[in-house]
Amino acid sequence: MALDQEETRTCIICGQPKETGIHIVSEFICEACESEMVHTKVEDERYPFFIRQLRQIWVRFHA
Ligand SMILES: [Zn+2]
Repeated sequence: MALDQEETRTCIICGQPKETGIHIVSEFICEACESEMVHTKVEDERYPFFIRQLRQIWVRFHA
């Protein structure tokens, strides 16, 4: 099984196929969502959404 970093992956946040982004465990977050998360404040209404998506990674990782 070859892992090609250049292949298109589906971002777990926006659900869009992207080529650039970060890999967390076996999941993928695109560049746009990653920078958006970095700039999202705790009081932002989207913050809980990001946390929920990230929690899914940890649930799978620890399953
Ligand atoms: Zn994304």
